[in-house]
Amino acid sequence: MQEKMNLLRDLQEIDQEISTIEATRNSYEAELSTFAAQAAEVQSMLDQLNVEIDQLRRDEAQIEQELHKQRDNVTRVEARLPGIQTQKEYVAVLKEIDVAKKGNKELEEKLQEKRKEIAILVEDQQEKQAGLDAISGNAKARGSELDQLLRDSGSQLDEHTRNREKVAGEVPKSLLRKYQGLFKRRNGMALAVARNGACLGCNMQLPPQLFNRLLQGADLQSCPHCNRILYVETEV
Ligand SMILES: [Zn+2]
Repeated sequence: MQEKMNLLRDLQEIDQEISTIEATRNSYEAELSTFAAQAAEVQSMLDQLNVEIDQLRRDEAQIEQELHKQRDNVTRVEARLPGIQTQKEYVAVLKEIDVAKKGNKELEEKLQEKRKEIAILVEDQQEKQAGLDAISGNAKARGSELDQLLRDSGSQLDEHTRNREKVAGEVPKSLLRKYQGLFKRRNGMALAVARNGACLGCNMQLPPQLFNRLLQGADLQSCPHCNRILYVETEV
């Protein structure tokens, strides 16, 4: 009975270490995926910006083209001036030139506006790109650290798992099942110390008869309150 209990205590110690390693590995994995998520978020903002900038540049090109056309137009009309014979026609052509120039001025202002919009977005784009580069740099440096940590903890885990199989193999099957169920339900504490007639797992008083049997070391006892497998500490 003492031997079984020692095996269970060894097993629980190994299982707790395994749980700790697994939790640590999960946090490494989570950290790794954070980098990926951050990068994806900034990348999608960048993609959106690129689409907007492309659209604005197309608008800009269209206005430029229109402006060229209108300027050529003004030049063409102005070229007609020296050949004009009548005052009336002269006034009419001057007016035409005036209207065209006003139109050009509006186009020029529109073009300036577009260029300002583009400049703002390009600045934003550069900031986001720098942010993305920083995230990638970080992910690279910390990522290789994390990969190394994962490899190291992976071999630790393998070692503990092999060790666990060896110990678990010596525990009777039904007792192992009971222990494993308790380990899960009781957050990695399947066993509890019994001291001064109480279970230290749940701090409840044990029936005196049960506690006495435990002290005699006759057989394994479970706490009637929390179900944990009880043991008394023999070492002083
Ligand atoms: Zn208990």
